[in-house]
Amino acid sequence: MKTLVYSSHGFDQPFLQKFANSIHEIEFTEEALNETTAQLSKGFEAVALFSSDKANAAVLEILKQNGVNFIALRSVGYDHVDLDKAQALGIKVANIPEYSPYAIAEHAVTLLLALNRKVILANELMKTNDFRLDQLVGFDLQGKTVGIVGTGKIGSAFTRIMNGFGCKLLGYDIAENTDLIARTSIQYTSLEELCKQSDVISVCCPLNEATKYMFNKATFSLMKKGVYFINTARGGIVNTVDLIEAIENKTVAAAGLDVYENENGIFFKDLSNKVLADDLFEKLRSYPNVLVTGHQAFLTQEALTSISQITMENLSNWEQFGKSPNDLN
Ligand code: NAD
Repeated sequence: MKTLVYSSHGFDQPFLQKFANSIHEIEFTEEALNETTAQLSKGFEAVALFSSDKANAAVLEILKQNGVNFIALRSVGYDHVDLDKAQALGIKVANIPEYSPYAIAEHAVTLLLALNRKVILANELMKTNDFRLDQLVGFDLQGKTVGIVGTGKIGSAFTRIMNGFGCKLLGYDIAENTDLIARTSIQYTSLEELCKQSDVISVCCPLNEATKYMFNKATFSLMKKGVYFINTARGGIVNTVDLIEAIENKTVAAAGLDVYENENGIFFKDLSNKVLADDLFEKLRSYPNVLVTGHQAFLTQEALTSISQITMENLSNWEQFGKSPNDLN
C-alpha cells in the first residue's frame, strides 16, 4: 500500500523502514499534517500519522479528495483525529492500542525521581565544583501517597512501579481495573479525594471532552501544599495558566511534564536559532521546579519497534481484508 508517513523524524524512520520492507511502499515527510501539508498526500492510498498531526474535518476532506482511504495512527491517543468525519468520508482509522506502556510509565517515574532528588541541579552544581548539598534535599517515596488518574495500560504500569516503591496508591478512573486491584494495594476514590490526599499525582488518562482541563484552578486548589504533579498523557488535560498559578502559590512543589497543551509547532523541531512566540511555554519552563521533556515518554527502542510493526500490520490488514483489528471506526 502506498503510504505517506507524516511527522517522521530521524528517531523513527529506520524502525518504520525496517518493518515496511518490500511489503509497503512508504515515503516520509518531516512535515506535520495540516490544511496546507494535506496536499502532499496526492497519490497515496494511506497516511501514517503521529500525535503532532492534526486530522480535523477540513484536513480529512483534502485527504479524501487526494485518494486517501486509510489512516494508520502511530499513537495510542486519537484525540487529534475527527473520527466522526473520517467515518462519514469512509476513511478507515486505526491506532496502536498498546506499544509499550512501560516506556511512558518509566518516563513518568524518571520525571518524578529527577525532580524529587534534584538530579538536574545536582549535575549543574557538580560541573561548577560546588559540592554542597544544601539545595538538594528530597524525600522518601516509600510511604507517600501517589494518586494515579487513569489506570489503563500506562496508569497500571506506573502504579505497579510505585507499588514496588512502597507507596500508598490512590486511583481515579471511570472504570476500576480489577487486575490492578488484585496485584497492588491501589484503592479507588473520587478525583476530589485523590487531589486532597496525594503527595504525588500522575496523569495517565486520554484527552477527551470529559478530561479537557480536568486539572484547573478548582482541582489544583484541592491539592495538598507541596504536591508533585506529573503529566505524561496529553497537555490539554491541564490548564497551564492554572498550573502556573499553583506553582507560584506553592501548591505544586514540582511539575514534571512530557506534554504541553500548545506543543504543536514547538515539539519535535529544531528551533534552537528561533525565538519562541509562546510566552506561556517560556514562563512554564523557566521555573527551576518544572522539568519539561518534549513528548519523549514513548521514546524507547521497544516502543519504536512495536509502533512500526503494528503500523505496518494495520496497513497489511487493510490491504488484504479491508479491515484491521485496531480499527477505531
Ligand atoms: P488506556 O486506554 O489503556 O487507559 C486510559 C485509562 O483512562 C482507562 O482506564 C480509561 O478508563 C481512563 N479514563 C478515560 N476517561 C477518563 C476520565 N474521564 N477520567 C478518568 N479516567 C479516564 O490508555 P493508555 O495506553 O494507558 O494511554 C493513556 C494516554 O497516554 C493516551 O490516551 C495518550 O494520550 C497518552 N500517551 C502519551 C504518550 C507520551 O509519549 N507522552 C505515549 C502514549 C500515550
